[in-house]
Amino acid sequence: MIKTEYNYDLLGHNTFHLPAKCDIFIEYSHVEELLQILNSEEVKDKPLYHIGGGSNLLFTGDFRGVVLHSAILGISIEKETDDSVFLRCGAGEVWDDFVACCVSQELYGAENLSLIPGETGAAAVQNIGAYGVEIKDIIEIVETVEKESGKVVIFTNEGCRYGYRESIFKKELKDKYIVTHVVFRLSKKPMYKLEYGNISAEMEGKEVTIKNVRETIIAIRESKLPDPEEEGNAGSYFMNPFVGMSHFLALKEYYPQIPHYPVSEEFVKVPAAWLIEQCGWKGKSVGKAAVHDRQCLVLVNKGGATASEIVALALQIMESVESKFSVKLVPEVIYL
Ligand SMILES: Cc1cc2nc3c(=O)[nH]c(=O)nc-3n(C[C@H](O)[C@H](O)[C@H](O)COP(=O)(O)OP(=O)(O)OC[C@H]3O[C@@H](n4cnc5c(N)ncnc54)[C@H](O)[C@@H]3O)c2cc1C
Repeated sequence: MIKTEYNYDLLGHNTFHLPAKCDIFIEYSHVEELLQILNSEEVKDKPLYHIGGGSNLLFTGDFRGVVLHSAILGISIEKETDDSVFLRCGAGEVWDDFVACCVSQELYGAENLSLIPGETGAAAVQNIGAYGVEIKDIIEIVETVEKESGKVVIFTNEGCRYGYRESIFKKELKDKYIVTHVVFRLSKKPMYKLEYGNISAEMEGKEVTIKNVRETIIAIRESKLPDPEEEGNAGSYFMNPFVGMSHFLALKEYYPQIPHYPVSEEFVKVPAAWLIEQCGWKGKSVGKAAVHDRQCLVLVNKGGATASEIVALALQIMESVESKFSVKLVPEVIYL
């Protein structure tokens, strides 16, 4: 069913809990309904933005146009081979419900991505990642509709041009396609990735099962990250920067303890949280916007923060990291 609302309040659709309205909000449950909406006079020639769960968005004001939201649900088996099961999932399914479904059926590959907020369609756009796994590792195809023509277009994994928190849908084809379904390839055989972060340490003494891995990751995340229900936030505010090798070696002379992860022969990834903490930002605030006191990469709304306060805090952090380390931080959060 198509649900249309006017002068609609988006407060419940962004995890920063910022007040914002849109002229028209439309939610649909089937691809055919989406095609009908894209063809309608109400939508034609108006600015159009598709949201998911709003867990990576920062509304800097009201949106003068149409906000679309998918309520396409359902998880079904597409096909099965000796080693794999291909699951097709509606873009509107909550991502963690999909992970829970895989874990309950002992299908391996998604468990390290447990408890990442948001919906499945957005997850495929964002290439979400955590604990050494990215969603691209299990995506087979992404089914979409082209906004302008209403044509159904299927992207292979390769065609999505995935990179670190990147995809073709965030670059060359930004805001041009709407994801309707994602087909995942899950393994029937265990393929644990426990070497990242402190998963192995936290698993000590526990039997290594897919259920225990999921529970451990949920426990780690809950202990480290603020719950958006309690303190509005959008997870990591900045991406971890890739630093050129010669620049990194120069930094290492001054900061021998600088954490880093190899990316290629030319680049290393440096945790943005470490850079921010070194600049003394932990727990600091601008108005009601603050740097979280346990996880520097997360900016939080202490209650009643404005978008300007959050943006001002982010800018000050970016300036101080650049001036101390000559490293540019890039927001992961999308400004609207
Ligand atoms: C507490 C917390 C922890 C987090 N931890 C992680 C983490 O560990 N790893 C990680 O990668 N991210 C993390 N995030 C960020 C966030 O969860 C992801 O970016 C997530 O994929 C956003 O999903 P969403 O449904 O909320 O999308 P939104 O924030 O609503 O939208 C994100 C983007 O997707 C687009 N989009 C949404 N739906 C569709 C669709 N159907 N078709 C086309 N485009 C669409 C939007 O236009 C927008 O560009 C975290 C966020 C929070 C609040």
